[in-house]
Amino acid sequence: MQNNKKKNFIDKIILKDIKNDKLIKIKTRFPPEPNGYLHIGHAKSIFTNFNIAKTYNGTCNLRFDDTNPYKEKKKYINFIKEDIKWLGYKWHGNEKYCSNYFEKFYKYAMILIKKGLAYVDNLNNKEIKIYRGSLTKKGINSPFRSRKIEENIMLFKKMKKGVFKEGYSCLRAKINMSSKRIILRDPVLYRIIKLKKHFKTINKWCIYPTYDFSHCISDYIEKVTHSICTLEFQDNKILYNWILKNIDVKKKPKQYEFARLNIEYSVLSKRKIKFLIEKKIIKEWSDPRLLTISGLRNRGYTPNSIKKFCYNVGLTKKENYIQFSFLEHCIRSDLDKKVNRAMAILYPIKVIIYSLPKNYKKIIKIPNHPKIKKLGTQKIILRREIYIDKNDFINNNHIIEKNVHIKWKAKLRYSYVIKSKKIILNSLNQTQTIYCKHYQNKCFKKNSKVKIIHWISKKESIKSKFKLYENLFVTRRPANKKNMIQYINKNSSKTICGLVQKDIIYKMLKNYIQFERIGYFFLNKNIKDKNITFTRITKLKKNKKCQK
Ligand code: ATP
Ligand code: MG
Repeated sequence: MQNNKKKNFIDKIILKDIKNDKLIKIKTRFPPEPNGYLHIGHAKSIFTNFNIAKTYNGTCNLRFDDTNPYKEKKKYINFIKEDIKWLGYKWHGNEKYCSNYFEKFYKYAMILIKKGLAYVDNLNNKEIKIYRGSLTKKGINSPFRSRKIEENIMLFKKMKKGVFKEGYSCLRAKINMSSKRIILRDPVLYRIIKLKKHFKTINKWCIYPTYDFSHCISDYIEKVTHSICTLEFQDNKILYNWILKNIDVKKKPKQYEFARLNIEYSVLSKRKIKFLIEKKIIKEWSDPRLLTISGLRNRGYTPNSIKKFCYNVGLTKKENYIQFSFLEHCIRSDLDKKVNRAMAILYPIKVIIYSLPKNYKKIIKIPNHPKIKKLGTQKIILRREIYIDKNDFINNNHIIEKNVHIKWKAKLRYSYVIKSKKIILNSLNQTQTIYCKHYQNKCFKKNSKVKIIHWISKKESIKSKFKLYENLFVTRRPANKKNMIQYINKNSSKTICGLVQKDIIYKMLKNYIQFERIGYFFLNKNIKDKNITFTRITKLKKNKKCQK
């Protein structure tokens, strides 16, 4: 996928690095925090990191950034691993954890203290924030900043031993409280966390490195050559370089940033998805309306369509929003040439073709795909009693007055033209059964206005549920709204009962099918229901008229 496209800015950098250092072994990593499920933004990062490794003969690590026991949970580890595997990627060796390096981080923190470049501070979080200042206001030194090296060593050891309670002290880098870069105003490197246990190290540690301290050192420990991340970490790079320089690292990983992926009508941030779950707007992370990897999987998106999407969206330095329709385009173009077509009826009404004999049965051989012959053929059967879709019947939304004759005609796909002669109404005056007469195809002129409609013979039909989804939000950029809940699409999920052909399973490619004029559908085996349930992945591009 990588080679036939214009090289992006990261490719160009890597190519240059390879030219300058023939022995370089390219190493990347995907570093998720196990505090939620992965979403399509992560897929872009996964795609980027794993593809770089593949293209340039290198390797890519999976490293869990598990430095905050307050947010991280073991259960997320497995979900994340499963999603990466489902996308089709294999990380190098075993998965890595920042917590595997806790001993090393401690050692490096001690190096900084011994060099007089880190100190134990007793200001609390709120005070640290105030002392830090702002873009227009210089920071103020903490009164504990001038502690002697020996005192800092002793206090840091005590922090590690658990002598102090949570929040009592922290370790800060001693850089420059009046730096223009706020990140350099003595950032916190270690904090005490005692009230929560770490899911992996349990209670072995009660001090934990901050993200900034652990991230750059982890990259260094793993010999990452190109540390690729999103733009919000651009400012942190200067701190990473400071840390690595002062712990005497010889070869620093180089960091490059790209713009986060945003998609219209959806939210990607884990924090926002959690909020939707808390507010009971959605039940779980794998809801098919979410753009989590598991949500997309449940919706019927294929790994290939997601990769196609990431590839085509490309890497840029400029923040932007991708149209939702582009994601739909990617799944359509992945499925279009592979999956069979079939007829389904979402809103059935009965048609009796009274002009056909009672036990009429006609087997019709039709192509599985209108354009791709090699996909073969299937059989459908026409009988006297069939179902058609209410929406194809004239006046469906109108109440028909009794005994009024309605002139309606349509052509059954792959079969006769039918004309209505009598309409039976139910007690609510809605159409229940239409009696029709059939006409030979000769009556049908190709360019006539007669609509070609879908049908299924009653005897060959079986009930099926259809899950139809729309966007979860009615606004393009819900993440930018103060109260995003206000913009929830209340009609984003609908389940209806319709009909499919009895032998539909045999007509499908794996779990996929295109129900003509209705969309691409996915048979989700995880849905436990006595009925078969089809999930609509996406509508068709236009409501194409059928041929024949
Ligand atoms: P979120 O904001 O959704 O919680 P995060 O950045 O906190 O995401 P992490 O688990 O820390 O999630 O991210 C792992 C990797 O995925 C990081 O390198 C991060 O930059 C990248 N990533 C996260 N969200 C996106 C996105 N929307 N587009 C591209 N890359 C992303
Ligand atoms: Mg994060």
